[in-house]
Amino acid sequence: MVEPKLRSRSFKRKHVVTPGNRNVLHYWRRNPSPLKCRLCKVVLKGIPRVRSNALRQLAKSKKTVARPYGGNLCSKCTRFLLKQKAREL
Ligand SMILES: [Zn+2]
Repeated sequence: MVEPKLRSRSFKRKHVVTPGNRNVLHYWRRNPSPLKCRLCKVVLKGIPRVRSNALRQLAKSKKTVARPYGGNLCSKCTRFLLKQKAREL
């Protein structure tokens, strides 16, 4: 029996045949769901879909989009929001 934490279905699993011809199960954590725009729920581009420990190894520029609301809103919604804010002034 494997250790209790590996029985959880939050782990992905795959049958692997080793070079010594043994059948073993390999386990790994699933990738998180992709980030979505806060307004229109479209999947954001330029934001990697990896776990936080993998994010730590990336440069800041590879984790986010360098524009106002980058990583929160898509480009269309950002454009719309900025226009609205300019018209309010
Ligand atoms: Zn949007």
